[in-house]
Amino acid sequence: MDISYSPEEIAFREEVRTFVEENLPEATRKHMLDGKHPTADMIRHWQKCLNAKGWAVPHWPKEWGGKGWSAMRLYILREEMEKAPAPSLLAFNTDMCGPILIAFGNEEQKTRFLPRMANLDDWWCQGFSEPGAGSDLANLRCTAVRDGDRYIVNGQKAWTTKAQYADWIFMLVRTDSKASKPQQGISFLLIDMKSPGVTVRPTITIDSFHEVNEVFFDDVQVPIENLVGQENHGWDCAKLLLSNERTGHAKIGPSKERLRTLRERACTIEKGGRPLIEDYDFLVRLVDLEVQLKALEMTTMRVLAEDKVDITKRKPNPASSVLKIRGSEIHQAISALYVEAAGPQGLALPVEATSNFESWLLEAHPNYYNMRKLSIYGGSNEIQKTIIAKQFLEL
Ligand SMILES: Cc1cc2nc3c(=O)[nH]c(=O)nc-3n(C[C@H](O)[C@H](O)[C@H](O)COP(=O)(O)OP(=O)(O)OC[C@H]3O[C@@H](n4cnc5c(N)ncnc54)[C@H](O)[C@@H]3O)c2cc1C
Repeated sequence: MDISYSPEEIAFREEVRTFVEENLPEATRKHMLDGKHPTADMIRHWQKCLNAKGWAVPHWPKEWGGKGWSAMRLYILREEMEKAPAPSLLAFNTDMCGPILIAFGNEEQKTRFLPRMANLDDWWCQGFSEPGAGSDLANLRCTAVRDGDRYIVNGQKAWTTKAQYADWIFMLVRTDSKASKPQQGISFLLIDMKSPGVTVRPTITIDSFHEVNEVFFDDVQVPIENLVGQENHGWDCAKLLLSNERTGHAKIGPSKERLRTLRERACTIEKGGRPLIEDYDFLVRLVDLEVQLKALEMTTMRVLAEDKVDITKRKPNPASSVLKIRGSEIHQAISALYVEAAGPQGLALPVEATSNFESWLLEAHPNYYNMRKLSIYGGSNEIQKTIIAKQFLEL
């Protein structure tokens, strides 16, 4: 199997690099380099910019703005964006709900929603998890009861990322509580966040950041044309969506960028009167992570070399579980090494006392805490290990 880049792929990488250099606002790049979360406006601006270039949804079918690219070409595009570093596209639009509408939606839903999703005219969020329904998602209890030409939705969603910006939410709801298996009574519903009865309440995480929310539904009326696929068959949508979600979690681009900048920064900060990079223990850990990341990159390329982009395919590649586990472990280890590099300066408070410090020092700790999420969302790493045990090892 050939896992080197072809001349076309090398040329494409250069094209992407040039595009990013010319179009990514410097303020956004600097903000991201400091390890900060991109703002909603930064994400919107960048997605619109990419969509105008035809690069927001190249993995969608051509009739909906896709390009028919290989998995490798898509990987190169995303890796160069991440290395820049540029804000990620809004995955809820491009990699989650979009592909579900393409696979299961009717023509009216596709025409109405897909172009606006690609251009981030509508911001979508994901309403799957509930208290008591995370790993055991089929246990969800939020109900949608049919009442003439509408559903009445009641219940609660938890951990809803960026719901505070969202125009729409795609939801798993229980439409049949008497089905013989819990997976059989679930439907996939699209809800306008402006509907009366929808309440968003922030959940502030350990890094003091407002990224996730609880969303409450009290007698929310939803037109039946917002049902995707057949009633009580929403689990098919959920399975496809979760497999598409997992594939994007290897985080090779961001890890590369974080390691590269850490190496540079370790040359300029001191430990015991010498540049940190000359500290043997630190250097060993840095190089160890660089090697682990290289190995993960080679594994990813091996998987991609065999893979075609088909966002509507129903059978997930279990290799995505391996990539997700290793990618999240490496990225978390990098965030721990940043904390070590920042040393006591990373803990300095209050803000007045730290105003002369470089921003990345102050972001090291919050970032470390924030990155704990990587081994939880998109199916926790323990759940991924069960998938590997069953599907690869046939245990
Ligand atoms: C930052 C963040 C953002 C999120 N964003 C969203 C979002 O936008 N939309 C959304 O719907 N959800 C979102 N989630 C929710 C996420 O999908 C769930 O947190 C995840 O599925 C785990 O569910 P849980 O939190 O209920 O933990 P639980 O399922 O209760 O798991 C607790 C622990 O038990 C382990 N465990 C559970 N079952 C098993 C098992 N069978 N075998 C072995 N170990 C097991 C888990 O691995 C975990 O370590 C987000 C979560 C986080 C942290």
